[in-house]
Amino acid sequence: MDATVEKKLQDLWKLQQIDSKITNLHALMGELPMEVADLEDEIVGMETRVQHINEELEVLETEINARKNSIKEFQRNIEKYDEQLNNIKNSREYEAITKEKEIAGLEIMGAEKKIRETGKIAEAKKEILDKTKEDLESRRKDLEYKKSELTEIVKENEEELNKLQAESDKAAASLDSRLARAYGRIRTNMRNGVAVAPIVRGSCGGCFSKIPPQRQSDIRAHFRIIDCEHCGRILVDQSITGIEAQVEVKEEKTTRRKMRLTAKAE
Ligand SMILES: [Zn+2]
Repeated sequence: MDATVEKKLQDLWKLQQIDSKITNLHALMGELPMEVADLEDEIVGMETRVQHINEELEVLETEINARKNSIKEFQRNIEKYDEQLNNIKNSREYEAITKEKEIAGLEIMGAEKKIRETGKIAEAKKEILDKTKEDLESRRKDLEYKKSELTEIVKENEEELNKLQAESDKAAASLDSRLARAYGRIRTNMRNGVAVAPIVRGSCGGCFSKIPPQRQSDIRAHFRIIDCEHCGRILVDQSITGIEAQVEVKEEKTTRRKMRLTAKAE
């Protein structure tokens, strides 16, 4: 066992863990503004809806006013017909004016009916408007809260990021420059920013490709730094990471039990 290689692997793993925390924190900080943006979009949608309902109500109002005006017009006509009926010349004229008066009366009744119907539609729209305004108000409060929360979290995360970055710089400085460059290069090429991967159930923890048993024992031997044949990540075993130990112990037990069962069966 090469103590120098082992130390290098430990340093690499330590650096990877710090850098993974940085990557995760960046991802988290990217999601928070999106939540605020979603809420802002929702509010804009509701404001548009309120505006549309208001416009529809205005149209209905105009319609009702026009009908009220036409009722007044018909009423004035009826008064005119009544005057004419007082100075009637013959029965034909009487019938004609009476007919006109009747029509005007029917027009008024029709207009009043339409006003009642339009009024009902307007009433229903006003209810929707009130509800939407209420929802809008509560969403605005949510947004205000989310924004202040976001400011707070961003501040905290930035402090945490600065701390982690300092740790990362320190950990990177303890590597020799060639190794640090290689680490940086692999990390940049990996979408999840993982350059150092543990062996997980005999596979690369980065790309999940199987690692041949001989290569696995070479990795465990710490004679040299070994990368994954498929993705190029540097591979480390459980003695470096401390993880997976439990999984392997469990698997070993299961295997032993299976072997016992097989023996019994035979
Ligand atoms: Zn791999």
